[in-house]
Amino acid sequence: MAKDVATLVIRNGTLIDGSGAAARRNDALVIAGNRIRSIGPLPPDVRLEDEGVRVIDATGQWIMPGLIDAHVHLSYGYPNLPGEGRGRGNTRPELNTLKAARGAQAALRAGVTGIAVPGGTYFIDVGVRDAVRLGVIEGPRIHCAGRMIIAYGCIEDDDPSWVGSPDHSIGVLCNTAAEMVTEVRRQDKHGVNFIKMADSRSGTTQMLAKEEIAAVVAEAHRRNLRVAIHSRGAGSTRAAAEAGVDWIVHADLATEADLEAVAKKGIPILPTATFLARVIAEGERIGAEQVQLDVDRMKRHFDNIVTLMQRSREMGIHLLCGSDSGNNTFMPFGELHANEAEILVRYGGFSPMEAIVACTKNNAFALRLEEEVGELKPGRLADVIVLRRDPLADITVLQGGRYLAWVIKNGRVIDRGDGAAPPKLAFRHAEA
Ligand SMILES: [Zn+2]
Repeated sequence: MAKDVATLVIRNGTLIDGSGAAARRNDALVIAGNRIRSIGPLPPDVRLEDEGVRVIDATGQWIMPGLIDAHVHLSYGYPNLPGEGRGRGNTRPELNTLKAARGAQAALRAGVTGIAVPGGTYFIDVGVRDAVRLGVIEGPRIHCAGRMIIAYGCIEDDDPSWVGSPDHSIGVLCNTAAEMVTEVRRQDKHGVNFIKMADSRSGTTQMLAKEEIAAVVAEAHRRNLRVAIHSRGAGSTRAAAEAGVDWIVHADLATEADLEAVAKKGIPILPTATFLARVIAEGERIGAEQVQLDVDRMKRHFDNIVTLMQRSREMGIHLLCGSDSGNNTFMPFGELHANEAEILVRYGGFSPMEAIVACTKNNAFALRLEEEVGELKPGRLADVIVLRRDPLADITVLQGGRYLAWVIKNGRVIDRGDGAAPPKLAFRHAEA
């Protein structure tokens, strides 16, 4: 076995397998090729001195599934680069593509082995996803939507009606159900993994009709694509749940009755408190004017979202964990991907173990890899991180990659650019 397939063995350490089971002492986690072969005693046929075997000693360290961020925007053109000049970052697709690739690499180096991208510009995310998959560049597994399907008055409908939504826009205007269906087909043709719709920015008014959402859901599902929707408001959240979307982003103004509708359908919610927390922190640091967002409104949304987290946990609604990294210049890649876990623990009533499960096992849903990643067990794809600190004792050690010893994605030890990963550990396997 070991002679034929490159084998990576993680010895010792404490295993947090992502299932929610108690942390336990690890003897040997054996990775053969790009999958986990065994967890437990070292199999007798694996000889550590064999040529095809590499060993990581994790004594005094913690082993867990790679983090998944269910809410990253690689191609909005952020953060602005020093010296990049004025103008929106998404008006130059060539530069923007390179920035997106660099952002993906930063996320991976911070221990994020999978990201979902609910909205982008052009088909940049599809390109970056394929570049990662084909080994052109290094990055997390990417599961992406295209431009958000919007109608007049929705978020990202920022230009006057006579301009519409230009090619570089984050949203694409579709003002009838028929236009929305055509856009689903166009995006499917260009290789998106799922469809993102978006209702109003703040949720005060419902902009999309339930029938329009249902039309998109029917077309997408027939083509085996899932649908996510940006919905802060009560009406749009209820309409989205009844129309059968696959997950709801934000939902912070949902009423108790709306949440019951969501719970009944078994739809997960991706609250994304990290972005709100960041706006509030930046507003206090550099002033609300500089942030160019309504900080007081964000504070109200944050309070609502904390209540939503608590109620969802009580009602059995699965929460997905996401940061909204890359949606603004103060949302850099590589820094914020695990902040939602801290918010779940500090405000949402979650235990550190529940927060870890949310960021790993539960978040595998956002990659549509529920049976493949997010949990460490035999047969799963080998996306693993090793930490120098205990995340159950302090959930913040997951943030920014500061306590990472190793990042392993698809069975391959990732060079984090810090000189720590010896090249001899770096097997490469097709992502498939
Ligand atoms: Zn977003």
